[in-house]
Amino acid sequence: MTTLYSSRQTKQFNKYEMTCKRCGACCGADDGDPCEHLKSFRSINNDLKYYCSIYSRRSGIHKTINGTVISCVPIRAKRFETWPGRENCGYKNVANEVYPR
Ligand code: SF4
Ligand code: SF4
Repeated sequence: MTTLYSSRQTKQFNKYEMTCKRCGACCGADDGDPCEHLKSFRSINNDLKYYCSIYSRRSGIHKTINGTVISCVPIRAKRFETWPGRENCGYKNVANEVYPR
């Protein structure tokens, strides 16, 4: 039986996940040397979108397509950094009011 608590938890989780616009910018989509695990697809509206091909085990050290070593951190930490395309990031724009430190 689904409890009220777990139902709210699922709702919050889905809201948090939907905040991502799949722009790929935090993974290097806009800087010319993205993470090797960043993959693209076309949405139903033919917009270019991105996903992480190792999402469930993404945390840790990885490489870009040009071989630069990078550290993948959760967006709740990443949102305090700067990266090309960050101005369109859903977490950057709402993070401080919806997900305070
Ligand atoms: S491993 Fe991290 S940096 Fe690489 S595509 Fe996945 S989420 Fe982005
Ligand atoms: S920059 Fe923000 S909106 Fe874009 S993919 Fe990364 S987390 Fe999602």
